[in-house]
Amino acid sequence: MKKIAILGSTGSIGTQTLEVIRNYNEEFQVTALSAGSNLTLLEQQIREFRPALVAVWKEENAVTLKRMIADLQVEVLFGMEGLLAVAAQAESDILVTAIVGMIGIKPTIAAIKAGKDIALANKETLVTAGHIIIPLAKQHQVQILPVDSEHSAIFQCLNGEDRKEIDKILLTASGGPFRGRDRAYLSQVTVKDALKHPNWSMGRKITIDSATMVNKGLEVIEAKWLFDVDFDSIEVVVQPQSVIHSMVQFADGAVMAQLGTPDMKLPIQYALFYPRRKPLPGKRLDFTTLGSITFERPDMQVFQGLSMAYQAGREGGSLPTVLNAANEYAVAAFLEEKIAFLDIYRILEECIHAHTKIENPDVGEILETEQWTYEYIESRWRFEHSR
Ligand code: NDP
Repeated sequence: MKKIAILGSTGSIGTQTLEVIRNYNEEFQVTALSAGSNLTLLEQQIREFRPALVAVWKEENAVTLKRMIADLQVEVLFGMEGLLAVAAQAESDILVTAIVGMIGIKPTIAAIKAGKDIALANKETLVTAGHIIIPLAKQHQVQILPVDSEHSAIFQCLNGEDRKEIDKILLTASGGPFRGRDRAYLSQVTVKDALKHPNWSMGRKITIDSATMVNKGLEVIEAKWLFDVDFDSIEVVVQPQSVIHSMVQFADGAVMAQLGTPDMKLPIQYALFYPRRKPLPGKRLDFTTLGSITFERPDMQVFQGLSMAYQAGREGGSLPTVLNAANEYAVAAFLEEKIAFLDIYRILEECIHAHTKIENPDVGEILETEQWTYEYIESRWRFEHSR
């Protein structure tokens, strides 16, 4: 029986991970859970899956949760100490990093050092600290199993292949809700418009990132670390139907693709069972009714998030951290309706230009860079969001 710990069990990826586990409850045991503030859902999850350890972010929530589950034998922790304990829990075999944001870096490192395999959804960790995480995983001989659908697709295409024979990674993108629109249109869009993803149902932050295409940019950087390729070998292709989840072109010109309906449970399940495949209930692709699969070049003039991510990724060092931190701050402010959609790009651009790059930053320097970015935004822009 595989023993699983989850960071972010109450979120979009976290709840879908628990759905997969529920379908295969004879194969998996949940040993630890962590969440932010959704105590009602966390309590239900604890009662159903009976982990030995849970963690929440705030101390007052830990006190409330302890009261809610006073009839159960569960250890309740809080803060970073809680996340680290869940990540490195002695009983678990694998950690699912379904938490959002750079807060995932330290727990991921702790889990790797404790010898846990990582089912990695939290892309911010690889974007900002890929140069630390990947060598560390090699050193501790743990597997980093991608959960992001595009990276899972690439991972599946590479099954049994020699990675030295990759010619190009073709990372597909839906183009988001504003595909084909111009900047004048984007200047008017609301939070509600941006949250309407055409194909995928996801958490709020990543849905906005899909609308700006910053998400695709973060995925380009994530792919660079996961598959050890340079940025010139990663091409983004817009495929609006979200049927092809990504492709790999090999040295001989052959292209392998992974196709399917948009359902995050497939990559989650693939990571948890890897290298086995198991039945997954749900819709199947019907090629006779599908019609066409179309392709477009991404419009990097309008969706500047993608070009800025390529730039930050190529320059490397602490710049991906600045991009990511500025984006986390700007998206939170946009969701709180404090800034307009295009301000997200303005904030990213200003931060990237103002930053003095640190080569090869350690975790302390990455977190200092995150702090610098927030303070820089607060000094330049007349808004604040509750971070
Ligand atoms: P959600 O916002 O839906 O969920 C985030 C989870 O993190 C929640 O459980 C939340 O708890 C928890 N959390 C947030 N802040 C803290 C904190 N300070 N301490 C402890 N827990 C915290 O995000 P998603 O599931 O959409 O995304 C998670 C990660 O996976 C992101 O990095 C995203 O980029 C990546 N990803 C997501 C995909 C998707 O389809 N959703 C696809 C591919 C990648 P609570 O709700 O209780 O506050």
